[in-house]
Amino acid sequence: MKKTENCKLIRKREIADGIFDFVVESEFMAKEAQCGQFLHVNCGDSTFLRRPISICDSGNGEVRFIFEVKGKGTEALKNKEVGDMIDIMGPLGHGFEIPKDVKNPVIIGGGIGVFPLLKLAKELGGNATVFLGFRNKDRVVMEEEFERTSKTTIVGTDDGSYGFDGYIASAMDQYLNFNECDMIYSCGPMPMLKAVKKIAEERGIKCQISLEQRMGCGIGACLVCSCETHKEGTDRYAKVCTNGPVFYSEEVTLND
Ligand SMILES: Cc1cc2nc3c(=O)[nH]c(=O)nc-3n(C[C@H](O)[C@H](O)[C@H](O)COP(=O)(O)OP(=O)(O)OC[C@H]3O[C@@H](n4cnc5c(N)ncnc54)[C@H](O)[C@@H]3O)c2cc1C
Repeated sequence: MKKTENCKLIRKREIADGIFDFVVESEFMAKEAQCGQFLHVNCGDSTFLRRPISICDSGNGEVRFIFEVKGKGTEALKNKEVGDMIDIMGPLGHGFEIPKDVKNPVIIGGGIGVFPLLKLAKELGGNATVFLGFRNKDRVVMEEEFERTSKTTIVGTDDGSYGFDGYIASAMDQYLNFNECDMIYSCGPMPMLKAVKKIAEERGIKCQISLEQRMGCGIGACLVCSCETHKEGTDRYAKVCTNGPVFYSEEVTLND
């Protein structure tokens, strides 16, 4: 179930240069939100279309989301101040599935893709091994929060300025040489998702990926976010906003 609501911004923090952590009040969305779902946010007068932003966490009448300033919409959103009202539709989409028999989950996120994974880590009951990749040391965020909610957290940077030196999918691949894993959960940039999908499929591990594709209406009407999928031997186009954003890796073709 979804709803459109004017939600009061109650906390705001810049956690890295141009990355904002917002907490809004909404009893309804806090109760309904599932990990991997997203909000469709009206960023202000200058942008006609809402912008999709993942639910990072929720509970006790509060919903948290974190965004990086990219263009007109997020630039306007960052100027909201505590006490302002934000017009939000949500929760939307099909989130991560947590099958009961999953014993050794791995979570892997890159860049802005790490934000939807915190609620997932919590719902996995502290049982996940988490890999977080960033461009460089200055972009590293949420490391301590993931450490508190997971079995182990490994952080890496593409330029080697902090933690594992290199792409985070390589760190996960090395880990999988010596450790059991029965589900991989992933969200991040397309090259990372492609690498994760390949590793999962070569190793025969089930893998769910969240696609943060460009999107229009967010409710399945405009088809802007269509993607090619294969399920039970049939090819079809799915809508990232309603059938996703989370899909099993074998269902989707990842295009640049
Ligand atoms: C399901 C979903 C969940 C998302 N969750 C988050 C989140 O938690 N935090 C966060 O920071 N961002 C998230 N995004 C991406 C976010 O929606 C875009 O960054 C935002 O819409 C950009 O709007 P803008 O008006 O600021 O920029 P625009 O002016 O629309 O675009 C600025 C630049 O960003 C690029 N861009 C826009 N949308 C996307 C996109 N979806 N993927 C890649 N590049 C894009 C454009 O091509 C352009 O180069 C999510 C996207 C989806 C679909």
